[in-house]
Formats: sequence, structure tokens, C-alpha cells
Amino acid sequence: MQIDLRSDTVTKPTQEMREAMLYALVGDDVYGEDPTINQLEQLSANILGKEAALFLTSGTQANQVAVLSQTRPGEEIILEKNSHLFYYETGGLASLAGVQARTLEGINGQMQMDDIQDAIRGNDIHYPKTSLIALENTHARSGGRISPTSYMNDVYTLANNQGISVHLDGARIFNASIGLGVPPKEIAQYADTVQFCLSKGLSAPMGSILAGKKEVIAKARKWRKTLGGGTRQAGVVGAAGIIALEKMIDRLVFDHENAKELARKLEPLPGLNIDSVGIESNIVILSVKELGIDSVQFAQLLKERGVLANALEKYKVRFVTHREIGEDDIKKVSEVIRDITILYQ
Ligand SMILES: *Cc1c(COP(=O)(O)O)cnc(C)c1O
Repeated sequence: MQIDLRSDTVTKPTQEMREAMLYALVGDDVYGEDPTINQLEQLSANILGKEAALFLTSGTQANQVAVLSQTRPGEEIILEKNSHLFYYETGGLASLAGVQARTLEGINGQMQMDDIQDAIRGNDIHYPKTSLIALENTHARSGGRISPTSYMNDVYTLANNQGISVHLDGARIFNASIGLGVPPKEIAQYADTVQFCLSKGLSAPMGSILAGKKEVIAKARKWRKTLGGGTRQAGVVGAAGIIALEKMIDRLVFDHENAKELARKLEPLPGLNIDSVGIESNIVILSVKELGIDSVQFAQLLKERGVLANALEKYKVRFVTHREIGEDDIKKVSEVIRDITILYQ
């Protein structure tokens, strides 16, 4: 059996989810007649403290629909240079929404307030209009770092004062919520629209939610149709999403503990670079540069020993803890890595 730490997306639906899927009440969701999807959307809106919510096929689709619903072609969106929206969505900002990306370098995923202020366009005939600021919490490529609500408040206040909308890519907002010890609402209140994934640590087979004001979600519903994301008896998968929200959030704390424990075990090993203090959620990023091999080679060595991880950058390897990873696995993985470091000393 391989220990799969590539992503929390590899989690499979639970037995309870499969049973809920089997017996789900369904209807045609394009007509708004799927009772399970309607329930999931209502539940999601309540959890985030938003007026309305929409079920989409993936986080990427939800992010793109959020941009499409809150910008016009030729406008500008401010976002962090390692954000998923910019880095991993196949250039959809350009090809779908036709917006220009103004990327800023963040610290632990957080763009600096001064930089954001400077990046907001003034009233000059040469300038595009700044229409959206996108945040990501937890921030994946910085190693699952969590932005505090005070930071989100600062960004939201700045944006609001200038009539700019804020979108939160909260693919892992529940990890942020658990990490901060505040309800998801308290994070979501500092964004006009919020996206989260049901299919990551929450273990549902597919789906994301976009939440916000009624008018924005009505636009989003239309854009979802444009992108081919209007589905029919979607309650079959939505039923798993309801279980995800009702049963799978609280246990994320174990994933955080396991990530922290893995980092602590790896920290003393020679040739590795890792900062266990910076592990705030379920992502561990390890630099293998001093071992004299690159991340692809390191991932290959892991694979040969039954451990799967992702090469993130030339020398950085990413491990993501999730429901199917237990304490024993963490121990095993740290032993495998220790053995590799011995080989390369
Ligand atoms: C995974 C992820 C997404 C996209 O979700 P998919 O369902 O894989 O399209 C968006 N943003 C962040 C931060 C993510 O981690």
C-alpha cells in the first residue's frame, strides 16, 4: 500500500457519503429543482454567512465564475503571484474573463497592504479599471499558510472604500477556520464572494461552492451555464457534499496535527530544510536542495519506497496530510525520508 501525500484531493468518499449518494433526492438542477443541491447551497450559504450559494463542478470553475461575475474584459484583478487563480488555472483569467492580472509577491501568501494600495489604479485615461482583489486562505503554494482575519479585514476595508470587490479563494477555508479557531463566517465576512472545495480534505468526490450576495450568485449561475457546469441530477454528488460539511470539518484538526508532526520529525534531518513553526494547516513543504538532488529525483526515491509526494519547485517537495493518513503513516514516511537522507549524505 502506498502512502499518498500528493494532495488532500485523493481522499475517497466515506461509506456514509456513498449511502447518502445512493438515496439522494434529485431533480433537474438547471431548473433549480434538485432538492439535495438546494439544501447543499442553503447550508453552504448559512455556514459562510452569505445570502446565496452555488454548486459548481470544481474549485477552478468556481474561481473563474467568480471573476467572470465581478469583472469586465480589459479590467484588472490584483492577486498574489503564487495564487491558484493565477498559477494553476490554465490562464483562464485571460482566456475566459479577458482580465489583466496584476500580481504581487506575498509573504506567506499575504500581499502587503502598501503594495495593494499602490497597485489600485487611479482615474487616468491610460489605466484599466481595478475591479477585483483575490485572496487565498489557506494559501496553498506558501505551504498552507493562514491569513489572520485582521489582514482580511484590512484588505476588504481598503477595497470597499474604493468600490473594488474581493474574492476569497477559500478552497481550504475550513482549514483556515480550524487553524484560527474562528467560525468560517468570520473569515468569509471579509469577502464579497467565497469559493470552497468539497473535494479536498472534506473528502467529497467532487464539487465546489461559490457564495455571495444574491445578485452576484445569479450572475454566477448564468456563467456556470456558459462554462458547461450546469448539471442535472447533481444531488447524487451533492449528497456527499452535505455529509462533508456536516461531518468532515471538525476532523481537519487531525490533519493539521499530522502535518506538524511530520515537519517536527523531518526538521532535525541533515540536508533538509523545513520550518515546522510555519506549518499552520495540512501542507508541508520541504526543501531538498542541500541533499544535492532535485525534487523530481527526491519524489522518485520516495515513490520507490511506497510514498507519493509532489515535486513543487526545482528543490521543493510537497506533502499534504488528509483523512486517509494516520499517525503510523507519518512515522513510516519520516523513516523513509531519513533513510534517503542517509543515502545522500
Ligand atoms: C485545489 C484548489 C483550487 C481548485 O480546485 P479544483 O477543484 O482542483 O479545480 C483552487 N484554489 C486553491 C487554493 C486550491 O488549492
